[in-house]
Parts: sequence; structure tokens; C-alpha cells
Amino acid sequence: ETPVVSNFIRTIIDNDLKNGRFEGKRWAGRPGPASVQAQGGLDPARIRTRFPPEPNGYLHIGHAKSICLNFGLANDYGGACHLRFDDTNPEKENTEYVDAIKEMVQWLGFDWHYSDESNLYFASDYFETMYQFAEALVMAGHAYVDEQTPEQMRATRGTLTEKGQNSPWRDRPAEESLALLREMRDGKHPDGSLALRAKIDMGSPNINLRDPVLYRIRHVEHHRTGKTWCIYPMYSWAHPVEDALEGITHSICTLEFEDQRPFYDWILARLAELDQLAEPLPRQYEFARLNLTYIVTSKRKLLQLVQEGQVKGWDDPRLPTLFGLRRRGYTPEAIRLFCERLGVSKADSRIDYSVLEQALRDDLDPKAPRLVAVLDPVKLVITNYPEGQSETCHAPINPHRPEDGERTFPFSRELWIERDDFREDPPKKYFRLFPGNSVRLKYGYVVRCTGCVKDEQGNVIEVHAEYLPDTKSGTPGADAVKVKGAITWVSAAHAIPAEIRLYDRLFTDPTPDAGDKNFLDYINPDSCKVTQGWLEPGANATPGAVWQFERLGYFVADRIESTEERPVINRAATLRDTWV
Ligand code: ATP
Ligand code: MG
Ligand code: MG
Repeated sequence: ETPVVSNFIRTIIDNDLKNGRFEGKRWAGRPGPASVQAQGGLDPARIRTRFPPEPNGYLHIGHAKSICLNFGLANDYGGACHLRFDDTNPEKENTEYVDAIKEMVQWLGFDWHYSDESNLYFASDYFETMYQFAEALVMAGHAYVDEQTPEQMRATRGTLTEKGQNSPWRDRPAEESLALLREMRDGKHPDGSLALRAKIDMGSPNINLRDPVLYRIRHVEHHRTGKTWCIYPMYSWAHPVEDALEGITHSICTLEFEDQRPFYDWILARLAELDQLAEPLPRQYEFARLNLTYIVTSKRKLLQLVQEGQVKGWDDPRLPTLFGLRRRGYTPEAIRLFCERLGVSKADSRIDYSVLEQALRDDLDPKAPRLVAVLDPVKLVITNYPEGQSETCHAPINPHRPEDGERTFPFSRELWIERDDFREDPPKKYFRLFPGNSVRLKYGYVVRCTGCVKDEQGNVIEVHAEYLPDTKSGTPGADAVKVKGAITWVSAAHAIPAEIRLYDRLFTDPTPDAGDKNFLDYINPDSCKVTQGWLEPGANATPGAVWQFERLGYFVADRIESTEERPVINRAATLRDTWV
């Protein structure tokens, strides 16, 4: 097991626990999730984190980093991590995404069910409480209804170098704002005509504190609350409230929210003063988001790739979505290992794609069963081996795990080998088949190449060789004949035909979406090559089965399209990093 590597968030948690920041069962009788109420408050000794996806798309490898971090911390500290759907943007959200996200969190090996509590929440469950909080803010003079248009608000917000200007409606009486807020909620005003804004400081150097909008009017149906609401909270207002209602102790988000933290703290402090929320209040911490080379991880760009047909859907094995990675052959263990190796930092960087692939190799090498496959086949005829005869060869299922036992497969006169394992005119240091040279057929005999047969265009259609009867692997004296090369093969009469999809990176450029580059200009035209190959007989190509194909890499039976009759195999990763 990989030892736990400390990080700045762990240091913060350790200090908080030492200083008793969460002591006192302060949440009983507060507004909040029914499950929390039923418990009579929250367990004060527990740290609480949350993973808060918006159900507007499929999870990708960047989300995995956040999931591993939040659920991982909760597990390590005996705390709890909440899965909370931040469903405050009804236009783009739906329950299909909700289900897909739940499935992927569990696939990664995490769970929001604990022995004594279940922590699945929806921001929409707090709409009523949030609304009540908003009324309290209005009554206390901390929020007002603005009648400026969205364009006017943008124009008066100011810039980094220029202060904003107060809205003419900023100092209207609280009762007036309250009455308008109720009309907004009751559907009496069209979209964009009114907004509820926090009253903070239009001169603040932090633009996020220049009277940010709390509620806007959107006459749209929500996938969970239907037509109950026509005002929806802004994310920056909803998020601290959701965290507080759930008793989150450490609200961990990506760096772009750093500038929002003062507003996060402002909202919670005002609501605590108004006795709507109680200490200990959640605190927000930021870490660097995951960026990978040779791929994009923004939901919008992933959607574009799918919609424009650059890939075959959300689960295309070339996409960094968790559905895509699973189909590509990634295991949850490999993704968790990758996230552990990334660590948690505050410095933005792009991680090389090969780090992800290496995590897969490191996970699969010790456990994946081995198999022989030939991807680009040419026939090898053993001219001195009797026709119609065959014999059994033995190979370890996994050389790292002798306890897994052996596999067996037949040797016969006609074999499939890789086209590249024969050269009529070999380059220097080529130790495989060429006329006059001997190689070992792995797990079989040493053979000496005697020539080849070509078609009219000069393509090699058969390679010929003679075997040396005393050299069979595993028999006494097998090593008496020394050879420099060993190649893999399958018996032509016994091998299983398979479609093999050789996936590669989706982009040819390491930073396809950096700066003002258009990522669509860098699509790798060879990101999927399809070949008709052969598998070792006995290969049990049940959908989702993963192997190491000897000498070739890690492969998986496609979980959607593969059948036992017609295996479809995806290359997950080459054996070594071959990308140059
Ligand atoms: P995208 O930017 O791809 O649209 P998002 O941040 O809008 O993603 P959310 O559903 O809001 O998607 O994300 C849920 C959680 O996952 C957030 O807490 C967010 O910080 C985290 N997250 C998203 N992308 C990454 C990433 N690349 N690295 C680390 N964490 C991420
Ligand atoms: Mg988001
Ligand atoms: Mg985003």
C-alpha cells in the first residue's frame, strides 16, 4: 500500500482537530437536511467534506482528483464526505447526469453511505431555507432588490482598476426589497427584470464583493423541484449555505474560487450574526485543479468533441471522462493511484499524460493475466512440423503470481506472428526472424527462418521456418541453443479472431487548449486504428476483461461492443511510454 503523503490540507485538518474547532454539538434544531435533524445534530468530532458536482455533464479525470481528495480525507480521518448535487442551474441539468455521477463515484470505490448516516444531498432541497435566509438578509439591510438590467449591472460593476458604482436601488427601504423579493418568488416579474443583490461594497478591490447577485429570475422547470421556483440562487451564494447546512468542516475547491472566499466568509458571518447559522462555520480551502497534457478536461469542450462527432460519445475510450477511461481499460485502483501520486498543491501545472498511463501499468502489471495476441498478423509455417499435428505449450498466467497457475495453448504447423517480427533485409541489431536467423517462439520451440513467400506486389504473405525439436521451453536442454530474440505467436487453426482498437492520444499537441489555441485544430488523426488480429485460444473475452498482451501492452474487452462470438478489444496502454 502507498503510504499516506501529507499535504497542506491534512496539516490544516490536524491543527483543527488538535484545537478542537468542531467541538460542541451545535447543530441540533437548526435548519438543515432532514437526516441531520433526525440525528439531533451533527457528530462534532467528525470532519466533513463534500464533493459537489453540478449534474450538467459527465465526470472526468479532474473530478476524480476532487473525489479522491474529499472522500479520501473523510475516510482517513474517520469523517464523512457528502455527495451533493449543486443543482442550482436548471437549464443544463438533468437526472441522467445525476445517476451517471453516482455510478462513477461508486465505481471509483467511494460511498456516501456510512454506517450511521447517508450523505446524498441536493442543493435544491435547501431552496426554501435559502430563501428564508435571503429574507433575513434583506430585513437586516444586507441585501436589496435591484431593478437595473443585467447589462446595467455589468456596466456599473467596474473593473480591476476602476471602482464600481452604487445602484440607484441600493438604499431602498428593506420593506420595499422584501415585498419585491416575494413578488419575484411568486412569479410576478419576467426573467432579468429584478435581482436580489448582497449589499457589500461597490468600491472593493475584490470584484466578487461588489454587491454580488444572490437570486435571479428564471422561469424554467427544474429537474427536481419542477415549477415550484422561478428564482434560482447563484452558485456563490448557494454554496456556502449548502456547506453550512450540512455541517461541512472543510470545503475544498479549486483555485479559481480563491477570490470568492471573502464572499463565502461574508455570507456565513452575516447569517451567523442573524442567528440563522451556528459556529463552527465551514471554511473554504483551495487546491490546484488537475490539467493533463494531450487532452482537454472542460465539460464544455468535451461536449463539443462529442457533438461534433470527433469521438463516438461520452464513453469514447479516448476521452478523459470516467466512463471513457473505464471503457479504455482503466481500473478504479489505477485512477486512485494516479490521484495519490498527484498530491495536493496550490501551484497550477499540467501533468504529463504518461503519468496517468504509468499508474495504469503499475496497477495492472502485478495483477493482469497475460495473454498472447497478434495484432498485425502474417503466417509463419513450420515446414518440418507435421500437418494436422499439435501439442500443448505452457505459460504462466502472471509471472508475478505463480499461485495463479498456468495457461496452456496449442503449437502447430501454421502460426500467426506479428508482421514486424520478420524482415527480409534486417536492420542492424534486429534479432527477430530473417532468413538464416533463429529465434525462440515464446513458450515453444527455437525456429530457424528459411525464407518467405511473397505475392505479386512483393508483400510477404508467408514466412517459413524449421523448428529444432529438442528446444521446447520447459524441457531439459531447451536452452542449449542460444538465440538473441523471442517472439510471440498463436496457432492459426486455434486462435480467436478479434477486432482490436489501437487507441492513442486524442490530440497531437501537449496543450491543445492553451492560450487562444483552438483545440479542434490538434485532433490526432491516428487516435484510433482498427486491426483484425488473433487472440490466444482460451482467451475469455467477457466484456470488461483486462489483460497484458505479452510484448504489446494492456488491453480490455470493450464493455459495450465486445461479445464472446466477436471480441472487440481496446488497447488501454502500451507496455512502455512510446510517445515521442
Ligand atoms: P468543468 O470545469 O469541467 O466544467 P466544473 O468544475 O464546472 O467542471 P463541477 O461539477 O462544478 O464541474 O465540479 C465538481 C467538483 O469537481 C468541484 O468541486 C470542482 O472543483 C471539482 N473539479 C472539477 N474539475 C476539476 C479538475 N480539473 N481538477 C480538480 N477538481 C476539479
Ligand atoms: Mg461547475
Ligand atoms: Mg468549471
